[in-house]
Amino acid sequence: MSNPILEVKDLRVYYKSIWGDYRVVDGVDLTVNKGEILGLAGESGCGKSTLVEGILRLVEPPGFIAGGKVIFKGIDLLSLSEEELRKIRWRQIAYIPQGSMNSLNPVIKVKDQMIDVMIDHGILDKEEAEKRALELLEAVGLPSETADMYPHQLSGGMRQRVIIAMAMSLNPELVVADEPTTALDIVMQKTVLLTIAKLRDDYGSSVILVSHDMAAHAEIADRIAIMYAGKIIEVGDVHDIFKEPAHPYTRMLIDSIPRLEKKILRGIPGLAPSPLRWPSGCRFHSRCPLAKKRCRYEEPSLKSLGAGHLVACHLWG
Ligand code: SF4
Repeated sequence: MSNPILEVKDLRVYYKSIWGDYRVVDGVDLTVNKGEILGLAGESGCGKSTLVEGILRLVEPPGFIAGGKVIFKGIDLLSLSEEELRKIRWRQIAYIPQGSMNSLNPVIKVKDQMIDVMIDHGILDKEEAEKRALELLEAVGLPSETADMYPHQLSGGMRQRVIIAMAMSLNPELVVADEPTTALDIVMQKTVLLTIAKLRDDYGSSVILVSHDMAAHAEIADRIAIMYAGKIIEVGDVHDIFKEPAHPYTRMLIDSIPRLEKKILRGIPGLAPSPLRWPSGCRFHSRCPLAKKRCRYEEPSLKSLGAGHLVACHLWG
């Protein structure tokens, strides 16, 4: 049963340019339920990272939020002042940006960086913060000696787990992790994903996991939303979608996952369109093997296939 903690309604994030606005996120509706891991998938450049920056109001000029609502626990984040929003970020919504494992200060011990975050947000005194830092390092599977190490003494996977521990330090209700496994080897990728899933189980936080890697979503997501050309084109239970993808693009993404038994890897033909001028009709029509005449001029909207499975494609309904 759905129990939303976050509802995104018709969110639009554009970038100004001398040629016109780049409509990178162009009318996204999305729900995240309490305690679930929602996977956000799609090729590079489809708008995933801009969508989460829009949700967290971290879009920098020339980007701007052109419209929509982001309702977190009944409050529209887009209507808050910077000060009000600052109180929600970290404490209630933690963000793990792309490449954040490289953002640790190389000359400050891990433990002290974690304590600084907690003290900065006024939750605990130093002694309590140190105790919590040690607990969290243990929760992400790092030995207690890690606390007194410097970031350069840690592997990439260990640094990423420190960042995840830091994100959890204030017990957030929602964690947004953008490509947390990028640049890690395959064994570390799995360790980091299982760490995120374990923290969700232990602390009950909801998670938005942004990744172009469909295998990562198959590993830990409960539901998955597929993004293409600035819009969500399919969303539903992860098992339903992997078993029976309804959108041709989703099917092609799943078919492009490398598997041991597959001798030939299938990619997705053609290039993603430009957000400066999205194609008419279905934005996927020039790459879709099942496109019909109607697809070139009529844009499909999301339709329900039942059990929370939605798809935007003229093959349905
Ligand atoms: Fe393909 Fe048409 Fe469906 Fe778009 S609407 S995915 S072009 S069949």
